[in-house]
Amino acid sequence: MSTERLLGEPVAAGIREEVRERVETLGSRDVVPTLGTVLMSADPADRRFVELKHDACERVGIEARDVRLDPGEPASRLYGAVERLSADPDVDAVFVQVPLPGGVEVSEVRERIDPRKDVDCLAYEDLGRLVAGDPRFVPATTAAVVRLLDAYDVAVEGCDLVVVGRSPVIGRPLANRLLRKELPGDATVTVCHSRTADLGSVTRRADVLVTACGVPELVDASMLRPGVTVIDVSANRRPADTDRGYEVIGDVDFESARAVASAITPVPGGVGPVTLATLLGNVVLAAERRTDGGG
Ligand code: NAP
Repeated sequence: MSTERLLGEPVAAGIREEVRERVETLGSRDVVPTLGTVLMSADPADRRFVELKHDACERVGIEARDVRLDPGEPASRLYGAVERLSADPDVDAVFVQVPLPGGVEVSEVRERIDPRKDVDCLAYEDLGRLVAGDPRFVPATTAAVVRLLDAYDVAVEGCDLVVVGRSPVIGRPLANRLLRKELPGDATVTVCHSRTADLGSVTRRADVLVTACGVPELVDASMLRPGVTVIDVSANRRPADTDRGYEVIGDVDFESARAVASAITPVPGGVGPVTLATLLGNVVLAAERRTDGGG
C-alpha cells in the first residue's frame, strides 16, 4: 500500500500567506499586531519553541515581545508578567509556554490572562467557550490538526476517531473540536490516556488516529487498523548523534506504521509547522477584534 505523507509545510505556507494579507490590512490602519510570549524554563527545547514563534512572527510582520524568567524565580514573577502583558494596550495576544515549573499554579495563570488575548485558550472562559461550541480562539494545535484534515480531504464525519492524550492543552480541546457539528467534525471520538487498558485494542478501532501523548514510538503497526489516517502531534526528543545531540520523533513508529496506514503525518514536518502558522492567525484575529472595537 502506498502511504500518503501529510506534510505540514504546504498547509502552513498557505496560512502564512492569509496572515500576511491580514497583517497588511491592519498595517493600512497603522495597527501592528503584537504577541507577548512568556517563558519560564531553562530547557533548550522550550527556548527553541519560543524562538521559532518569534521567527515566525517576524516573517509575517507581527511584532513579538519576549518575557523570559528563570525557573528558580518565585511564581509571582510569572503571574505578574502575564498580568502586565494582559493589561498592556499595545499587546494583542499573550502566549505562555508550557510546561511550567513546579510551584507555578496553572490555575493562577488561567485567572490572570485576558481572555481576549488568550490565543492558546488557557483562560477558563476560553476553555469553556471552546467546550460550549462557541470558541473565541481555537488553540493552535487543535486548529492545526483541523487545517491538516481539511487540506488533505480527510473526512472524519461519522468516523471512529481516537485521540491518545487528554491534556487540557492538546487532547481535550482537539477531542471537543472534532466532536462538534462542524466540518471537519461530527466524528465519534474516543479519548485515551495513561490508564487506558489495552491501548492497542482501542487504537485498532480508529479510522483516524491522533496521538498527543509524548511517548516516543508508543504506537506501531500492530496497533493500527489497515487504511487508518494517522496524525502524530507529538514532538519527542531522543538522544542522537546530531548537532543538537537529539532527534525529534513522534508517538508513532513511522516506518512500522506506514506499512499499514493510508496516510500519516511525519515528525518533524507534520503538525508542528501548521501549529506555528495557526498561532499567527490567532494573533492577527485578536488584533483585528481589538481594533474593530469588538474585543
Ligand atoms: P502532557 O500534558 O504530558 O499530556 C500527555 C497525555 O498523554 C496525558 O493525557 C497522558 O495521560 C497521556 N499519556 C501518557 N502516556 C501515555 C501512554 N503510555 N498511553 C496513553 N496515553 C498516555 O503533554 P501535552 O502537553 O499534551 O503534549 C503532548 C505532546 O505534544 C508532547 O510530545 C509535546 O511536545 C507535543 N506538542 C506538539 C505540538 C505541535 O504543534 N505539534 C504543540 C505542543 C505540544 P494522563 O492524563 O493519564 O497522564
